[in-house]
Amino acid sequence: MKVLVINAGSSSLKYQLIDMTDESVLAKGSCERIGIDNGAFKQKAPGKEDYTFTTDIANHSAAIKLVVDALTSKEHGVIGSMSEIAAVGHRVLHGGEKFSASVLIDDKVIEAIEECCELGPLHNPHNLTGIRACEEMMPGVPQVAVFDTGFHQTMPPKAYMFGLPYKYYEKYRLRKYGFHGTSHRFVSKKLCELNGWDISTKKIITCHLGNGSSIAAVDCGKCVDTSMSFTPLDGLMMGTRSGAVDPSVVLYIMKHEGLSPDEMNDVLNKKSGFLGTSDGVTSDSRDLIAAAEDGNSKAELAIRMFRYQIKKYIGSYAAAMGGLDAVIFTGGIGENSDDLRDECCEGLGFMGIELDRAKNTELNHGEGKISTEGSRVEVWIVPTNEELLIARDTLEIVGGQK
Ligand code: ADP
Repeated sequence: MKVLVINAGSSSLKYQLIDMTDESVLAKGSCERIGIDNGAFKQKAPGKEDYTFTTDIANHSAAIKLVVDALTSKEHGVIGSMSEIAAVGHRVLHGGEKFSASVLIDDKVIEAIEECCELGPLHNPHNLTGIRACEEMMPGVPQVAVFDTGFHQTMPPKAYMFGLPYKYYEKYRLRKYGFHGTSHRFVSKKLCELNGWDISTKKIITCHLGNGSSIAAVDCGKCVDTSMSFTPLDGLMMGTRSGAVDPSVVLYIMKHEGLSPDEMNDVLNKKSGFLGTSDGVTSDSRDLIAAAEDGNSKAELAIRMFRYQIKKYIGSYAAAMGGLDAVIFTGGIGENSDDLRDECCEGLGFMGIELDRAKNTELNHGEGKISTEGSRVEVWIVPTNEELLIARDTLEIVGGQK
């Protein structure tokens, strides 16, 4: 059975076609600049030349048509006809308190996702557009929604409530939701499979570190706390996002710089994090490291801050769970920066974390255990694969055969 995984953004749409018999990726690609001129299409398929071209892509329906045409193209395609696509799995950012698990999409689900647009205004409307475009272009093919927030719905109120007047929760559902749920779920489960562990007995901290970064405490397979919150802005500093700051600082800047809520939002989401702290050097962690090596002290500061924050989360989530069996590093930075993993684990011997520095370097960009044999807490690199998890959920929900 072949599952098409769709991640629809405001002006882009990414996709992967996965053959679930062996979970191999038959093709993956993207449509960029949808609704803007000079759209770009790109598809990569093993054993075939990359297929790229530019064309105006009017809307998401047009983008899905390009995807279907490319997948079935005589020259560049990987399937004979669209009927080979048994189901579509969609990444949906926000499921609010309505969705704790993936669901088969019907009119009621679409309505509920629509109701969550208020909570995820930058993503949910586009996710919905992607769903509608697939309905239009592939009528009758079952579609499944997989939510970024779903895995975190097991958090208890003491973890997800803010110390604000209760009426704001009642009125606006203002609370911690958490994001990157598919990644935290995927890597925690994968580690237990690789290690022969029963997930229902283990306490795991998952560090998803990329352009966006979040950490989760996964106790017996269930998320009990996570660093991103009402929006993906909270928690760790990121490429361009500030992460947690004293709320008064936000009010202070608005007042003294005369910024509107939208302008302040822009500062917090697009001008802060690595980019802001390094005084505009870069939002990219690799470039930040290069700048620091060249002697840029603000880039150096941003690196130190990020790693210090990660270490503090590891300590606090071990305390929250009352113990710890493993720490997982994943995401572009978590999987590829041995230096970062080294610094984040340094000095944590008192809580049973001992990194094997040679293994940490040897397994960089790979997968495996990077703690010493004697380390009470295991440390692992586990590459994330959110698309595969979406495809697996989709297969399970539509009840298809592999
Ligand atoms: P996204 O959150 O957009 O999915 P990724 O998970 O792909 O992002 O992570 C992108 C980040 O990973 C970038 O900041 C990039 O610099 C960083 N990265 C990739 N390779 C390395 C490396 N070798 N060392 C440090 N950072 C790296």
